[in-house]
Amino acid sequence: MNNTTTPLSNIAPETYELFNKRLAAVRQWRQEEWNAGQQTDLDQFFRSHGLCFDCKSTGIDLSPVWWSGDMPLFVPCPRCGGSGKADASRPASRPQ
Ligand SMILES: [Zn+2]
Repeated sequence: MNNTTTPLSNIAPETYELFNKRLAAVRQWRQEEWNAGQQTDLDQFFRSHGLCFDCKSTGIDLSPVWWSGDMPLFVPCPRCGGSGKADASRPASRPQ
């Protein structure tokens, strides 16, 4: 088993709470951008706020890589290395 994996219970208290709080900011941002006639894509929000879109700023790869019994285990986000911040020097991973 990869010893860098993390059970969801370890990340849920901080990371997901933070992400849920951010949803309110996303709604406000979308309304303001919509009113200004700008793009309101979610990835645009993350980019314009310097946040990693791949992991939704949680700092972890959101797909479980391993299971410990019933508990899914995760690894740090390969794009941001677990920081949750966007690296402006690297291109977006989904350039459609
Ligand atoms: Zn990331």
